[in-house]
Amino acid sequence: MSKKILVWFRNDLRLHDNEMLVEAIAKSDSILPVYILDRRSFGETKYGTLKTGNIRAQFILESVLGLRNALKQIGGNLLIAEGKPEDIIPQLVQEYEITEVYHHREVAREETHISTLVENALWKLRINLKHFIGHTLYNKEDLPFPIKDIPDAFNQFKKKIERDSIIKPCFAAPDRINVAEVIDWGTLSSLEDLNLLPQQKDQRADFEFTGGEAEGLAHLQKVILAMQQAATTKNLILVSKLSAWLAMGSLSPRKVYWEIKKMESVPNTKAMFNHILLGLLWRDYFRFMFKKYGNTFFSPDGFGSQGLVDVTNEQENFNKWRNAQTGFAVVDAVMTELNQTGFISNIARQTAALYLINNLEVSWVLGAAYFEEKLIDYNPASNWGNWANVAGVGNDQKSKSVFDLDKNIKNLDPKGNYAITWAS
Ligand SMILES: Cc1cc2nc3c(=O)[nH]c(=O)nc-3n(C[C@H](O)[C@H](O)[C@H](O)COP(=O)(O)OP(=O)(O)OC[C@H]3O[C@@H](n4cnc5c(N)ncnc54)[C@H](O)[C@@H]3O)c2cc1C
Repeated sequence: MSKKILVWFRNDLRLHDNEMLVEAIAKSDSILPVYILDRRSFGETKYGTLKTGNIRAQFILESVLGLRNALKQIGGNLLIAEGKPEDIIPQLVQEYEITEVYHHREVAREETHISTLVENALWKLRINLKHFIGHTLYNKEDLPFPIKDIPDAFNQFKKKIERDSIIKPCFAAPDRINVAEVIDWGTLSSLEDLNLLPQQKDQRADFEFTGGEAEGLAHLQKVILAMQQAATTKNLILVSKLSAWLAMGSLSPRKVYWEIKKMESVPNTKAMFNHILLGLLWRDYFRFMFKKYGNTFFSPDGFGSQGLVDVTNEQENFNKWRNAQTGFAVVDAVMTELNQTGFISNIARQTAALYLINNLEVSWVLGAAYFEEKLIDYNPASNWGNWANVAGVGNDQKSKSVFDLDKNIKNLDPKGNYAITWAS
């Protein structure tokens, strides 16, 4: 019997640096690349927010179609199905006589629950679900400590990992692929099918995100160009806007690292290199913390207590905040930019979060759930991890004191222009 591997794409929508894909090609006669649109990811949360709002939904759809195009260019295709992976994958395994299924391991509870269901269903068919690791800069197996011993303090984590671990080279993108014979490769739902409306472009936005690996790689090249230019103009750009492609896995963090590292010999690029690297380390850190502590990050009281929550006015205050109607200009500007574009800078995210938690005394989980709906770059570990941290209920209790709303506002909007631009 020929060996046929089903490659289940999730948040790893790329050909470059994709070990799962490379191994599937090497170990099979043909592969079946599959993406499953799972409506559970587009439903409502218990906080009355959506799991995925229209801006990210659009980005996801573009990313999936981008992957299909990329696969077509190397002689393949992507089977697109809609439903529950735990129902569909076993069906496909039987229909196409699949001998093994590959996927990338996730860390947050809903995602790991789904892969457990898939694994159990496949087990009944005596088919193995092979897990790959491909979302982080540093691989779990290369860490100088087991997950349970990863330092809780970010600075210690960074110090140890940089001293004792390695960043592996990227896997080359395949240039040819042999896929299973499929009569109907399926079509992808539209935004309207998902009951979402397209977002109108806001003229104030200085950037447009388009999903897909090709766009992600092109944007990475723009970042590198900006680094080169900054070397002479000294105009540092400390917001790379790489996060949305990283979140969808259309860009691998290792690819980003090795590309920006090529700039090392260019004078004055170190600051930007260090800034992006620091961000990638924070990203790894939260993923590893999720692996270490699991669901604790989704709990309102996490590893400690937020402090005062004004239960009586909570819903009203939350609504004001999300609708950019707090009356506090900078915060309203941040929320307008978020609502209109799906992207705000790190400092803007912290500012909005601090105001919601400390000034409006709303539980941080409502804010995290709202960001989950709105952010174009949402990923569970980065979002819930950062929120827990800002709320002071994260695993590193010492980080509680580092946030300062006034200081943030001075950095975010020193001359008041931001608040004027994004006045709703
Ligand atoms: C309340 C709150 C919620 C957040 N939610 C998310 C989220 O859902 N998804 C997300 O990717 N980031 C999240 N962040 C982290 C950070 O704000 C964004 O990653 C960053 O603003 C993206 O912009 P950039 O690509 O220009 O980042 P850069 O500053 O250029 O950094 C490079 C990359 O490093 C990663 N990164 C940078 N800072 C962080 C950080 N603090 N935590 C984790 N990763 C980081 C991102 O992938 C980013 O693209 C959140 C931060 C806060 C305070």
